[in-house]
Amino acid sequence: VKSEGRNNWCFYSAEMDEKLLLRMELEHDLKQAIERDEFELHFQPLLNLKTGEIVSFEALLRWRHPKRGLVSPADFIPVAEESGLIGPIGEWVLRTACRSAAAWPQPWRIAVNISPVQFRYKSLTQLVKTTLKESGLAPRRLELEITETVILNHETHNISILNAIRGLGVRIAMDDFGTGYSSLSYLRAFPFDKIKIDQSFIRDLPHDRNALSIVRAITDMAQTLGVHITAEGVETEAQLHALEALNCHEAQGYLIGRPAPGIEAYFTAVKRYV
Ligand code: C2E
Ligand code: CA
Ligand code: CA
Ligand code: CA
Repeated sequence: VKSEGRNNWCFYSAEMDEKLLLRMELEHDLKQAIERDEFELHFQPLLNLKTGEIVSFEALLRWRHPKRGLVSPADFIPVAEESGLIGPIGEWVLRTACRSAAAWPQPWRIAVNISPVQFRYKSLTQLVKTTLKESGLAPRRLELEITETVILNHETHNISILNAIRGLGVRIAMDDFGTGYSSLSYLRAFPFDKIKIDQSFIRDLPHDRNALSIVRAITDMAQTLGVHITAEGVETEAQLHALEALNCHEAQGYLIGRPAPGIEAYFTAVKRYV
């Protein structure tokens, strides 16, 4: 039994070493990724359910690793956050997103994900200000998506940064709404312009009664608060119709469009979705 235990331990240890090695390698490669021009942004459309028009695109980061191919942000964003590399990477994302949007033939908004770690660099407000100026993008066309951790304990420092950025005319959206521990209390901490209902709630629409009740409660509450609602991860017509019936404002998901490197297809599209 003892030797078996030891073998087991050795097995796990080797696996852990391998994981650590992989992670160190990833961090090493990540350091050079900007200089080597390995990042790209993909854009995913957001549909206004009242007008049937595309109103906005979310910028989603992609890393084209020379050996590993396309690496998912779920795999490298945490490494970037722990190593501090999210600073320069986040700057690249914001700058590239604003420049792209400024060149679009229509005034679609651009939504950019901001990591909680980026709030630790005291220049976030300045970065947003400079980037808007340099790109020529109107502030009202920029939307920053943050997660609940940013104001987890009602951090006054982060809330004041959010207020300053919002003061520039930039919109602030709460991402992944409903996945945190006390989502509702965050709505009191800061006047969000938009709430994005996490895709885990949308997945079971329209047949799951509980999911339907929860989404209805969120949209009702948002109506009262005057906050805009986006449903994430919309994959079926049935989900889209359920969301329309609930007076949800916007929808995002594979049904409407997958994230793609170019949005030329939307330049001339008169396609109506609803
Ligand atoms: P997120 O901000 O919640 O982004 C939505 C994710 O859902 C994206 O995954 C998107 O591709 C995916 N998605 C969109 N529609 C559907 C659908 O209909 N069904 C399903 N199953 N999935 C859908 P992605 O691009 O892999 O990004 C994962 C996460 O990585 C993002 O979640 C965000 O938290 C983070 N991320 C991506 N880009 C950036 C970035 O530039 N900066 C930061 N800080 N984080 C980023
Ligand atoms: Ca997002
Ligand atoms: Ca989300
Ligand atoms: Ca997410």
